[in-house]
Amino acid sequence: MNTTLPFPHIRVVDVLDILLVALLLYQLYRLLRGTNVMRIFWAIVFIYISSKLFDLLHMRLCSQILGGVMSVGLIALVIVFQPEIRKFLLLIGTKTQLTGDTMVKRFQFWRSGVRNKPGVNFEPYIQACMHMSQSKTGALIIFKRLNSVEELVKTGEVVNAVVSSPLLETLFFKNSPLHDGAVIVSGNTVLAARCILPVTSRLDIDPNLGLRHRSAIGVTEGLDVVAVIVSEETGAISYAVGGEIHHNVGPVQLRHALEAYLSPSA
Ligand code: ATP
Ligand code: MG
Repeated sequence: MNTTLPFPHIRVVDVLDILLVALLLYQLYRLLRGTNVMRIFWAIVFIYISSKLFDLLHMRLCSQILGGVMSVGLIALVIVFQPEIRKFLLLIGTKTQLTGDTMVKRFQFWRSGVRNKPGVNFEPYIQACMHMSQSKTGALIIFKRLNSVEELVKTGEVVNAVVSSPLLETLFFKNSPLHDGAVIVSGNTVLAARCILPVTSRLDIDPNLGLRHRSAIGVTEGLDVVAVIVSEETGAISYAVGGEIHHNVGPVQLRHALEAYLSPSA
């Protein structure tokens, strides 16, 4: 690409290059934000700047020691950041994944020219959440988007049933054998119940939030899903997406969020 900007020596591809790096760094920051890893990251920055400073001041001994630390640093980095590197690659893989399933769906939308997801009825979800909120029944519902949730489904019991408000309420009923953990749904189908989700490692989360909310944040950090939570303690309904949690939402806000994130154009 030979297109040039008004500034000499800066090409459009250079701007694109910088934007892509900024985007990658931002995604990395979102993953690491509030975790212990962030402290390790600052320690590395500190060591790097110190070693450059010692070099500049010709302080040989310090410079040699820090130089040695830096030379084994890359291997140490891979070991220390192994879970984060895995999460990061998973996130990129999930966002760019084109499974057979998603390709068929995209082709169908392209052919029909219809952008609204045909036949997804959010009413049972909203009704169930409202009822469970009133009765203070704890619930955690994970909505599949375009990408696969096979790994989550494997951790629980397969249900594969058409969704209804009574079904969801029965699944989360305190004495039900399937009430623990999360329910995974896709469109109008309840795929699985009693699923175990990854818990976020962030340390900057409201200490009043327990494992239900933390696992809702955790699963949306690494996977392209939406999590809806009903608190057993307060009855409050919240939803999480992209690692961010939105507290205490009403039925109208919940509907808007589900429509916004779960329609195929989203
Ligand atoms: P609440 O406001 O409902 O009390 P909370 O955020 O305080 O929610 P806890 O009180 O710790 O969370 O909720 C525990 C319940 O959350 C467990 O009984 C289980 O059903 C669910 N839960 C905990 N950890 C996970 C996990 N990793 N994956 C899925 N569900 C989980
Ligand atoms: Mg609790």
